[in-house]
Amino acid sequence: MNDVIIAGCGPVGALLAAELRLHDVRVLVLERQAEPVSYARIVSLHTRSLELLAMRGLLDRLLPHGRRRPAGAYFAGIDKPAPAGLDSPYAFLLGIPQPVLVRLLEEHAIALGAQVRKECAVTGVEQDDLGVTVTLDSGEQKRSRWLVGCDGGHSTVRKRLGIGFPGEPSRHETLMGELAVAEPPSGVPDKRIDIRPVGGGFFRVIVPAGPTVTATIEDFRHQLRAIAGTDFGVHSPRWTSRFGDATRLASSYRAGRVLLAGDAAHIHPPAGGQGLNLGLQDAVNLGWKLAAQVRGWAPGTLLDTYETERRPVAADVLDNTRAQVALQSDEPGARALRRLVTELMDFDEVNRFLLGRTTATDIRYDFGTSGDLIGRRLPDVAVSGTNLYSLLHHGRGLLLDRTGNLSRGAWSNRVDLLADPSAALDAPAVLLRPDGHVAWTGDDQRDLDDHLSRWFGPS
Ligand SMILES: Cc1cc2nc3c(=O)[nH]c(=O)nc-3n(C[C@H](O)[C@H](O)[C@H](O)COP(=O)(O)OP(=O)(O)OC[C@H]3O[C@@H](n4cnc5c(N)ncnc54)[C@H](O)[C@@H]3O)c2cc1C
Repeated sequence: MNDVIIAGCGPVGALLAAELRLHDVRVLVLERQAEPVSYARIVSLHTRSLELLAMRGLLDRLLPHGRRRPAGAYFAGIDKPAPAGLDSPYAFLLGIPQPVLVRLLEEHAIALGAQVRKECAVTGVEQDDLGVTVTLDSGEQKRSRWLVGCDGGHSTVRKRLGIGFPGEPSRHETLMGELAVAEPPSGVPDKRIDIRPVGGGFFRVIVPAGPTVTATIEDFRHQLRAIAGTDFGVHSPRWTSRFGDATRLASSYRAGRVLLAGDAAHIHPPAGGQGLNLGLQDAVNLGWKLAAQVRGWAPGTLLDTYETERRPVAADVLDNTRAQVALQSDEPGARALRRLVTELMDFDEVNRFLLGRTTATDIRYDFGTSGDLIGRRLPDVAVSGTNLYSLLHHGRGLLLDRTGNLSRGAWSNRVDLLADPSAALDAPAVLLRPDGHVAWTGDDQRDLDDHLSRWFGPS
């Protein structure tokens, strides 16, 4: 029997599979499609996601496939340069085609030992005390101890479990695609339309969608004519898609032995390019906790912290995208508000605040203990002739000790130790979780032992 089945090999499912494999969990990923669409939208990866990918040694593989842009909040499309002095070597934006990202993450998961099966869709889910039975579209059934639905916004897993997905329905639908354009416009034909070259003789065309539910070349032609009076001779689409601005959050991230991650748990308009980032961060938060559960050392409530930590983060992202959409409206009040926010962003404090939000570097999980660093991420500080993140490639905890007196005791099989008196830390010692968040700071061994058992199970 598999330990974990993951429904969906998008970016979130692929990364989660890799995270679980770091802990030797037997993983089967079931993916409906044969391959990701070969050409598709460029997604922006923000600082925190870049940090997480660097922590797993993946970022260097992605960089050659992407294009860097300077860091910035890009809040509601307001481009202001980021304030100076950001505390991350990864303070930039990486634009990368989503299918390339998915392919690289999938290859990484497979190299670590994950099994990925294509062209099989999950259609049914039943669970009992011992495990989950997953039914495929072929009628075949698969059994596992746990199931994670990473099957996107229309998640079958979420629906089969009856988990609510409350929020606002889509009000505006958009057509987007890469098409050949016989008569490209010389300027901006209408501000609701965006047509720009993407190389190879193709143009990215964005236009508000009409009442149909499809995204065919005819839909593009019809909408372009209706808005600009001409269809610019669009033809030969390389790919087309249609997306809306629905905003929804799953009412729960877990039902028994089944969990949700990524778009299956939250959807929102693409403002600020945050959805995929949010999902990757879900995967890194969930991976080690579910692995601990499977391997039998998870402290009682560890797995539940996935929802208590990640659902509020998603709720915040939903809210900031609602705000961005409102700021992009053409209503006079919204336009005035946008002018005001544009001016406010000239203040470094405001700019930094919004940047912290959209890049997810401001996340502070509530661990119920006090301390400046507790619950926050640590930047990739210099340690012992290397960098901190290179010590997190294996997804284990890390005790970073400047005192030289602390021990990880009986937790050495789950937590690594680096004693380095010169580490650039604002604390005598720091205990990091596998997702790079600070679980404890101090210099007292007994207190440390309490926290080691809180996060890494009984000694
Ligand atoms: C125009 C646009 C621009 C965007 N730009 C950005 C951006 O710049 N930055 C950003 O962070 N996010 C961006 N997003 C959002 C981002 O694309 C999504 O958040 C991301 O794809 C979610 O990843 P996922 O793995 O959760 O789901 P998906 O990418 O939807 O992957 C789900 C996978 O599950 C498979 N699947 C579905 N149902 C089943 C089933 N029943 N059985 C088996 N497999 C199944 C699907 O085939 C798919 O491969 C953008 C979205 C849009 C629409």
